[in-house]
Amino acid sequence: MGSNPTPSASVLYMDLSFILKRVKGITLNSKEVKKGYLFFAIKGTRFDGHNFIREAEERGAYAVVVERPVSSKVPVIIVEDTRKALGKSAHEFFGKPSERLNVIGITGTNGKTTTTHLIEKILLEAGEKTGLIGTIYYRLGEKILGSGRTTPDQITWHRTLKEFYELGAKNVVAEISSHALDQYRVYPTRFEAVLFTNLSQDHLDYHKTMEDYFASKAKLFTEYESKVKIINADDTYGKRLLKITHGEIITYGKKGDLKILNFRTDFRGSALRIAFKGKEYEFSTNLIGDFQAYNLSAAIAYALWKGIEPDLIQRALKCVNVPGRFEVVHSDKFTVIIDYAHTPDAVENVLRTARKLSKGKLISVFGAGGNRDREKRPLMGKAAEKYSDLIILTSDNPRDEEPEKIIEDILDGISEKDKVIIEADRRKAIKKAIDMAKEGDMVAILGKGHEDYQEIKGVKYPFSDAQVVKEILGGDGCIGKD
Ligand code: ADP
Repeated sequence: MGSNPTPSASVLYMDLSFILKRVKGITLNSKEVKKGYLFFAIKGTRFDGHNFIREAEERGAYAVVVERPVSSKVPVIIVEDTRKALGKSAHEFFGKPSERLNVIGITGTNGKTTTTHLIEKILLEAGEKTGLIGTIYYRLGEKILGSGRTTPDQITWHRTLKEFYELGAKNVVAEISSHALDQYRVYPTRFEAVLFTNLSQDHLDYHKTMEDYFASKAKLFTEYESKVKIINADDTYGKRLLKITHGEIITYGKKGDLKILNFRTDFRGSALRIAFKGKEYEFSTNLIGDFQAYNLSAAIAYALWKGIEPDLIQRALKCVNVPGRFEVVHSDKFTVIIDYAHTPDAVENVLRTARKLSKGKLISVFGAGGNRDREKRPLMGKAAEKYSDLIILTSDNPRDEEPEKIIEDILDGISEKDKVIIEADRRKAIKKAIDMAKEGDMVAILGKGHEDYQEIKGVKYPFSDAQVVKEILGGDGCIGKD
């Protein structure tokens, strides 16, 4: 209807562009409202922003954006979907930064962090300033702009893109989680490229079913604009995605447009041979693990599509540092690796690789996060049992749950119970594994990767697997890094 907002309580349906020119700021947190701000009421899983209208008003909101009628002293703007409206507004409010950058979005259950780092490395090698948004941090080169959720909320997303742009970035490569897609946190970004790695069981506490999980991931390919879509054609869900998406598509995999011809991985690194558009290429890297064939292929597919010279890509991939992703932190008589794997599929992948690389026994140390997807716990136990000679079950981030209860859930999936030692104290569990390791063995510490805290009953205590290993064994823990 486009009528002017009045200071009295009124319900208006209007184009938000009009009001965005007049507000001082936008927020979805009623506590952050300042005079002249536009407040967006978002209905989350725990809280509903519609219950905080009074607080927003009291703090001086210029107007509030809602999905259902509320009574208020300030103008009320009703929209169909406040999350989408917030995305659109943040995009506009921060000057449409995604349109001035090449934004590359990567989604999938596993491989997002690794693939973002690979693409970042290639673009940096090509001399282009590139920002990175993901699980570990939001950073531009050495400069860390922040960290938080894998994919930030709408405001942080568009504001961070703006910051990257103002700092001279040409590209931003970002992990896009399924939660983020479901909640339209990156809406309405225009991507240069979107990539799909794979889909396996995770986050079923949130998504309930695999179908729902897949539907969220698929949104990046069906509801967002992008110049090219790069999809793993060896993955069952990747194949399904191919049926519902349009535009320029490049597949990778054993029979993909980018064809994986050969992949070898050993303790020192990996070598990949691929064919693309009638030519063959070889790449070598310090990264280890069978699954790296896919992460490398995804990144290479993007780079070749973009026209980056193959020898430059080869140079870039030689040495890549992805913290906490099959990170070798000790290698002497025996080897210790740290990995972020916290899903059954990821545990399976890491330990399969570790099994192959270990010349002696494989000792795995892990737990599972509290307050989250319980169904995955026995499956993680099962995957670990398949490859480990010894399993030390411990705590991950127990959050509000009892660590012993989580350990029992994992134990349910393990049939050979005599393979298992239970030590709920993570530090002691790591120490135990290291004390038991003999020449040629491999110790795999899983679940937390780069994290520098352990979350117990609402408190984040400082804790780093790498640091603990360093304290026990000494050394600088710096193998396989550039
Ligand atoms: P994400 O950011 O999607 O969680 P990461 O790149 O951090 O993915 O990898 C997490 C863990 O998942 C790795 O340490 C490894 O164990 C496993 N992993 C990585 N890439 C893949 C892949 N392409 N397929 C299966 N597992 C993978």
